[in-house]
Amino acid sequence: MRHLVWFRSDLRVADNPALFEACVNGATVSAIYIDCLEQWQSHGRSAIQRDFLSRHLQALSAELSQLGIDLTLLEVARFSDVPQCLAAWLAKHPHDALYANREIAIDERRRDKAVQAHLKNTPSIHVFNGDCVFNPGSLTTQSGDMYKVFTPFSKTWLAQLRASGFRLLPPPNAQAKPLTPRDIELKGERVSSNHWPCGERAAAQRLAQFCESHLYDYGHARDYPAVAGTSGLSPYLALGVLSPNQCLAAIEQQLGFLPMSRGEQGFAWLNELIWREFYRHLMVAFPQLSMNRAFKPDTEGLQWSQDSGAFQAWCQGQTGYPIVDAAMRCLNATGWMHNRLRMIVASFLTKDLHLSWRQGEDYFMSCLIDGELAANNGGWQWAAGTGADAAPYFRVFNPTTQGERFDGKGEFIRQWLPELADVPTKYIHSPHDWLNQHQPAHQYPAPIVDHKRARLHAIAMFDALKDNSREHLSPHELSAQQQAQAMLKELDQEVI
Ligand SMILES: Cc1cc2nc3c(=O)[nH]c(=O)nc-3n(C[C@H](O)[C@H](O)[C@H](O)COP(=O)(O)OP(=O)(O)OC[C@H]3O[C@@H](n4cnc5c(N)ncnc54)[C@H](O)[C@@H]3O)c2cc1C
Repeated sequence: MRHLVWFRSDLRVADNPALFEACVNGATVSAIYIDCLEQWQSHGRSAIQRDFLSRHLQALSAELSQLGIDLTLLEVARFSDVPQCLAAWLAKHPHDALYANREIAIDERRRDKAVQAHLKNTPSIHVFNGDCVFNPGSLTTQSGDMYKVFTPFSKTWLAQLRASGFRLLPPPNAQAKPLTPRDIELKGERVSSNHWPCGERAAAQRLAQFCESHLYDYGHARDYPAVAGTSGLSPYLALGVLSPNQCLAAIEQQLGFLPMSRGEQGFAWLNELIWREFYRHLMVAFPQLSMNRAFKPDTEGLQWSQDSGAFQAWCQGQTGYPIVDAAMRCLNATGWMHNRLRMIVASFLTKDLHLSWRQGEDYFMSCLIDGELAANNGGWQWAAGTGADAAPYFRVFNPTTQGERFDGKGEFIRQWLPELADVPTKYIHSPHDWLNQHQPAHQYPAPIVDHKRARLHAIAMFDALKDNSREHLSPHELSAQQQAQAMLKELDQEVI
């Protein structure tokens, strides 16, 4: 028997259900990765993440070759080319079965459906959940629907964890003598990701170190960007170099138990992993989320601003609000941003500048090393007030008080805004009067909006959507609903 493993966003040998199952029964196993450069570009993914991906493919090739498994890189332009490419490769390299872990975004699901139709079950296709602790779609309300609110979802998720535990798979046994790994190098624009150590072992080490030193005070420390209080594991989770099951196992190993409720040690971190799952389960149940649609259809009617100058100022960290600017310059320089800052800059873009969350989502994707659709879309729609269990529309972060609370001494701000280095801490969150007085030649911009007025405008934008007397759906709601139904119909019967 010859088994083929198709690697996608699961670049690891440990706890990889597709790889593990392909390797049982003494089959001869080989592996492929299909790179689609144009698709990558059209999904707007970043050059730093592409570099990280390329390095991880090389590392995966080395890991697999130790197990006697050869990893081949196939290259096509777009997902639509995949069925033919795979069929042609399989014609030259016949296999009895194809193993893969499920991907959840709409284009990937369409690609997989096309592959399934093209191959006509030769070889047979076997698909697994390697991306979430519980398979998206498997946790539903009593009426069989996906939860739209996080808390009941997390309760069911925890109940399932109590009932069934989680399944952690070891790396498979070696299938043959070690091979010489192939050199794998992706084409396309890349920005160095060398700051992030590469490989499963590096990810496992970071996970263990985080659990040992930061799990206990995560609930408090996670909010302060100047402190290394979060795990920094998102780039690894996004490419599947690390699995959520491995995170659960590390928590359990550290604490001797799995925390199951708020207030228990370690629960705050586990809760973030449940948020990750929530957004992934939502994406499967509501495929329109992959297509730029708002989760709340009525918010499709929001009148976003078209001010390209304001957008540029936000992108470049030139808004005149120090915490926003420091966060954006950090993102531009490193490809990563702390969660508290992601919430602040997302609120600022949508509720102070009144620019569409779609612009922010795209910009993040083009910069982030951990960019991934479900969490990015979920985070942006949460901040904009258009998403599932989103921040209430009248809750608008005040960028100045957020800075005061979470970067009180201005350490993070000074790290990224050298022009504010001399501003006394007392004035660091509103530095303009001080700068004008003491450094008249300074280059730091004045605030591009007045927060108080901008906040009222944002609330008015949402209020304008309310029309309680309306009996019929608006054109926005109708088209969103129709698109959602069409997609679910289209994806019915999918195997992968
Ligand atoms: C506007 C916005 C955009 C975002 N875009 C992304 C994105 O493209 N990719 C991404 O991985 N995360 C995204 N997040 C979620 C979160 O900011 C990052 O996961 C987190 O900052 C990564 O740092 P960490 O690994 O140190 O996280 P930790 O705090 O250590 O959390 C552990 C893991 O839990 C998951 N996680 C944590 N917070 C969230 C959350 N709010 N939603 C979903 N998963 C979460 C991540 O996988 C993270 O690695 C976004 C959040 C917002 C508000």
